[in-house]
Amino acid sequence: MDYTIDIPEMGEPRLLTPGPLTTATATKQAMLKDWGSWDGDFRQMTARMRKNLLALIGDREGAFDCVPMQGSGTFVVEAMLGSLLPRTSKTLVLANGAYGQRIARTLTYLGRDHVTIDKGDYLPPRADEVSAALAADSAITHVVVVHCETSSGILNPIEEIAQAVHAAGRKLLIDSMSAFGAIDLDCNAIPYEAIVSSANKCIEGVPGFGFVIARKAALEAAAGNAHSLSLDLHDQWQVMNETGQWRFTPPTHVVAAFLAALDLHEREGGVAARGARYAANRDVLVAGMRRLGFETLLDARWLSPIIVTFFNPADTRFAFPRFYDLMKDKGFIIYPGKLTVVDSFRIGCIGNLDAALMQQVVTAAAEALRKMGVDSARPPEKALRERAILAA
Ligand SMILES: *Cc1c(COP(=O)(O)O)cnc(C)c1O
Repeated sequence: MDYTIDIPEMGEPRLLTPGPLTTATATKQAMLKDWGSWDGDFRQMTARMRKNLLALIGDREGAFDCVPMQGSGTFVVEAMLGSLLPRTSKTLVLANGAYGQRIARTLTYLGRDHVTIDKGDYLPPRADEVSAALAADSAITHVVVVHCETSSGILNPIEEIAQAVHAAGRKLLIDSMSAFGAIDLDCNAIPYEAIVSSANKCIEGVPGFGFVIARKAALEAAAGNAHSLSLDLHDQWQVMNETGQWRFTPPTHVVAAFLAALDLHEREGGVAARGARYAANRDVLVAGMRRLGFETLLDARWLSPIIVTFFNPADTRFAFPRFYDLMKDKGFIIYPGKLTVVDSFRIGCIGNLDAALMQQVVTAAAEALRKMGVDSARPPEKALRERAILAA
């Protein structure tokens, strides 16, 4: 295991956000060169990247392939949905936050029939309710779930959901955008049709493309499904396999950075080691913030090692914009909340960060509270009561 936390350039803040995130110096340096998009060197880079990504799911039988696609994560989610869901399909969307809702919205745009189970912000979808929904509606062909719902930080129980979908003979698509690379998605243990993630999350690259890892049979069957030329996953896959090239201008520098990031991921010890570092980051953060009076939105057992949502303190002297600025003065960029009901903010645990750094984040938060005259960061009783009721 070999992974170092780099000292940022003078004045460059650390991003405690779930992508773009703080990248390693080697990842940034990999971008200081130009590549021809059709040149053999770049085609080899694309091939190596696809192979290394596939290795992360443990596909021993060669049943899967990896298809990179230009754009931010949402573009690639849309490519996956539009390409892998036949026009006659009906999809069950499991939502518990903004990204699940975005999937349902995308299906509306695509004109694909769907129903949604919406669990609000605090709770995960569970196997029994998925089984019941599938048993009640034989028209449902596919299920889509978000692995780590980044809007709250909840880690959904992907294994039990995958087993329930598999047992019902339906197909599962996973938005593992913010989990892939840090949380295991072994295709031998978890049955799924496809997963999607992007360059700037747990592999710690820079933004610019995403990738779908799908069963080859699903990619074959996707011919003619897509609503869009640029987002046609089947076409991208075919052309890439035939020519080694992306169909349209690839984000060459981003791919180079991503390869450097993948090397660092491997040197660190792969998925398990990366997940362990993020979990340690979260544990130091949550313990420290609790000592200041902060409380997490989620019950401890659903907290992901990716990002943590904290309630805003009840103290009226607390104002998030000022808290944000004071944290930034200390070199930390935090993240506003993205919840539907309560006031909250988020702190990411992913990127080129370690537990020592998270301790500094806690110290910076303590100092920021002191400057605002907030003695305790305890949230409003109403927020705690609501959390207790919903978690019961
Ligand atoms: C980041 C993320 C996305 C994609 O967001 P973009 O802003 O388009 O990159 C999708 N789903 C989840 C769960 C995410 O965390």
